[in-house]
Amino acid sequence: MNSPRILVLGTGGTIAGAGSNATGAAYRPGGLALEVLVGHLAALGLDADLVSQEIARIGSQDIGFAEWQALHAACTAALADPAIGGIIITHGTDTAEETGFLLDLTLPTTKPIVLVGAMRAADAVGADGMRNFANAVKVASDPAASGRGVMLVMGDAVLAVRDARKAATSAIDAFRSFPRGPLARVTPASLDWFGPPHRACEGARYAFPQELPRVAILTAGAGMDEQPVKALLGIGCKGVVLAGMGQGNAPASVIAALADAAASGVPVVRSTRVDEGLVDRNVEVEDDALGLVAARALGPAKARVLLMVLIANGVTDAGAVQTAFDGG
Ligand code: GLU
Repeated sequence: MNSPRILVLGTGGTIAGAGSNATGAAYRPGGLALEVLVGHLAALGLDADLVSQEIARIGSQDIGFAEWQALHAACTAALADPAIGGIIITHGTDTAEETGFLLDLTLPTTKPIVLVGAMRAADAVGADGMRNFANAVKVASDPAASGRGVMLVMGDAVLAVRDARKAATSAIDAFRSFPRGPLARVTPASLDWFGPPHRACEGARYAFPQELPRVAILTAGAGMDEQPVKALLGIGCKGVVLAGMGQGNAPASVIAALADAAASGVPVVRSTRVDEGLVDRNVEVEDDALGLVAARALGPAKARVLLMVLIANGVTDAGAVQTAFDGG
């Protein structure tokens, strides 16, 4: 049987990174052209029919609306093209969860869409990129991979991007999955799913934004006052995500200023600066009385993505925003 055609969209990152030598720490993310990467993969003798399209060659800290728009358009075209069986996006790991989650919220789940990155540059000793790439091909080629939302393949694990979080700055095993564990384990030779697709044939949950509203993340710190909240509103933020202490806490004056923001029509979502765990409603902060939203399982970066998409789709009422954050 012929292997399905996979569209590979390149954006750069460490997987396409090149250094001045194989043992040094310094390298340039996106230094390698996508064609070179795909050529390396082809040389592994993998059974795959790959077509490539370069969107960007940048470190993912620089990714933004223009690249997201281009990725969304390319994915939309590929989803409509019967010749394409799945999509792989090569991406820097710093913001892979943000790009992936934005696409997860705004694309249907009818074909596998897989983000893949690396923690070591392509020419570094012990580089992990080709292994992760070969694993991504295995996932994107599997019809059983569709209906699971956008996925991230790193370190022989397949994670749902909604659950994925970069938790280590340089370790190979850099990603964690919360609240659900990995969807599958993968190697270039095997793929084991741990359950059936949970979003089979779902349409896009939200329209892709025409523009992104300014939404800021405010990290809470002991002894801070409410002035940063006022500064954010002063520059026209349309929404605020609190990276709070513990279960989304902050000093009383900060919470009061955030409640004022919410009362003025700026949605405020309480997330946490803690690595992992749920932020629930009305634990130490009276969300019902103050008009605030609890981020539940989403950390600050992904909470910001969801809030931007909601605002762009006209969803700003605290109850409706909470429903979206509750929506698993
Ligand atoms: N900061 C770069 C990026 O996110 C390199 C990190 C990586 O890809 O692992 O693209």
